[in-house]
Amino acid sequence: MKTQSHFLDVIWRAAGAGALPDDCEVTRLRKAILTLIAVIIAILAVFWGCLYVLLGHFWSGMIPLTYATVTFASIVHFFHTRQFGFFRASQLLLILLLPFLLQWSLGGFVGGSVVMIWAFFSPLAALLFADLDHAMGWLVAFVLLTVMSGLLDPALAAHGHMLPQPAIQTFFVLNMVVGLVSVFFVFRTFVKAREHAHQLADEARRALEVANGDLRDSREIIRQLMLTDALTGIANRRHLDERLMEEMERVQQKQRSFSILIADLDHFKEVNDRFGHAAGDEALKSVAGIIRRHIRASDFVARYGGEEFVVLMPDTDHQDAVMLAERLREAVSGQRIEAIGESITISLGVTTTLGAMPLKSFVRQADDALYQAKRAGRDRVVSSVCHQPV
Ligand code: GH3
Ligand code: MG
Ligand code: MG
Repeated sequence: MKTQSHFLDVIWRAAGAGALPDDCEVTRLRKAILTLIAVIIAILAVFWGCLYVLLGHFWSGMIPLTYATVTFASIVHFFHTRQFGFFRASQLLLILLLPFLLQWSLGGFVGGSVVMIWAFFSPLAALLFADLDHAMGWLVAFVLLTVMSGLLDPALAAHGHMLPQPAIQTFFVLNMVVGLVSVFFVFRTFVKAREHAHQLADEARRALEVANGDLRDSREIIRQLMLTDALTGIANRRHLDERLMEEMERVQQKQRSFSILIADLDHFKEVNDRFGHAAGDEALKSVAGIIRRHIRASDFVARYGGEEFVVLMPDTDHQDAVMLAERLREAVSGQRIEAIGESITISLGVTTTLGAMPLKSFVRQADDALYQAKRAGRDRVVSSVCHQPV
């Protein structure tokens, strides 16, 4: 099995000697296959020629033998010059003319049995190795020569030196079987190649779909990373800015109330100083977790800055916003933070708007309230006057 594949490899490599370094895979394949076909037909022609000579038809034998010689010369020329167009045209011409010349030398259309079946390989090969327009040209040439053979038949039959009857019958059967079986296999190769191409296209499409899915997933992951705070795992400032803008647009369109709060950890510098920065980080994570667990599904929490958090409360009036802020304050102060072994308090500033207003002013209003909460002694909620749209 291994020797066989090695043998085929050597043949394949030899047949590809006419390829140019820049040729694509398909062009290389075409050149190698046409070279192989030319060699096979030339070998068959030698066999055919010798048979005719043995049967006493010297000149009929000389035609395939001359064909074989010219074919080998044209292969050598092709390997030397790498001019595929010239090689292809000369091969198609030889494949077309040889059977007719042979047929006429044997004594005509009918007498020469069905040698011209072999000429049909010329338009078939043009389909494979040239293009559709070329193939039509070769088909027309084949039809013309066949018609000419039919017209010349009476004259050629009268002057021909017919082979003995058993030889004619044997040649008829051989040409029919070998010629048509070859046509079948050429078609089979076409169909298989097409199926293979479909299969490859299907595989490529599936791979593309998978790659697209992966790309979508990666983009989603990247987007999530871009919008998430690395320490606490809640939304970051970028995400907050996006959502603030969206919510304010909604307020503008639907004239609904919209509240926000800013929560700031009290004396957090001290926490860092007493327990270390790493414990401070853990405390920040814990507080973020508490806030996240105590807000409603429609609320949105983000880390605003170092130890400050913002909660957006869409469609929430001032009273409810203050209640939620109070709930958060109690939840945080009422829980022992594991990393530092004691509880932490937060101060909160709340504000509400009933109509669209500049984002900066809206946030500043909450920030001012927070500042007042700090000044008033921390661990408390201060709410700013609602904005009344004009
Ligand atoms: P106040 O009650 O007035 O808010 O006092 P404070 O100490 O919390 O206020 P200040 O804004 O002066 O200090 C905030 C501190 O938060 C300073 C900084 O070291 C700390 N901090 C900010 N971000 C982080 C963080 O990511 N990790 C840790 N461990 N500390 C942080
Ligand atoms: Mg603070
Ligand atoms: Mg602060």
